[in-house]
This record gives sequence, structure tokens and C-alpha cells, in this order.
Amino acid sequence: MSSSGDRPADHADVVIIGGGAAGFFAAANLGELCPAWKIVILEQGREVCKK
Ligand SMILES: Cc1cc2nc3c(=O)[nH]c(=O)nc-3n(C[C@H](O)[C@H](O)[C@H](O)COP(=O)(O)OP(=O)(O)OC[C@H]3O[C@@H](n4cnc5c(N)ncnc54)[C@H](O)[C@@H]3O)c2cc1C
Repeated sequence: MSSSGDRPADHADVVIIGGGAAGFFAAANLGELCPAWKIVILEQGREVCKK
């Protein structure tokens, strides 16, 4: 278990919960609009956009 402060989400500007189509494309669009932002997707499954 990671302690607070060393997980990718601890250093993100935006954390998106769920890597389905909505989460994936929200991250992609936000990344284009705000390229300096650190965006993390937290997906409970093994891969994003699985459906
Ligand atoms: C069998 C099937 C076939 C389909 N075929 C088509 C098709 O051919 N064409 C079409 O346009 N649409 C299709 N759809 C519909 C399409 O899949 C959905 O409209 C789309 O996936 C919705 O995207 P979403 O990001 O809102 O939700 P989802 O795709 O359900 O993504 C949500 C994600 O969040 C994750 N998640 C949930 N809770 C947590 C949590 N607490 N922490 C971390 N991660 C979490 C889930 O694991 C999931 O990956 C199909 C759906 C199904 C079920």
C-alpha cells in the first residue's frame, strides 16, 4: 500500500475516477485544452476503454 504523497493521484491537477469512454475522452480533451495539467485516471479494472 502506498502512503499518502507518493501515488500519482497525489500529484495530479485532475483525478478522473473510471476509465470508461467518458473518463478516457474527458482526460484526452482536458489534456488538449490544458497541456500543462497532470491528469490521472483511476480505473478499477485492468485497462481503460475496455467496452
Ligand atoms: C456489452 C455492451 C456492449 C456495448 N456496445 C456498444 C456499442 O457497440 N456502441 C456504443 O456506442 N456503445 C456500446 N455500449 C455502451 C457503451 O459501452 C457505454 O455507453 C459506455 O461504455 C459508457 O461509458 P462510461 O464511461 O459512461 O461508462 P463505462 O464504460 O461503464 O466506464 C466506467 C468505468 O469506471 C470504472 N469504475 C467504476 N467505479 C469505479 C471506482 N470506484 N474506481 C475506479 N474505477 C471505477 C469501471 O471499471 C469502468 O471502466 C455497450 C455496452 C455494453 C455493456
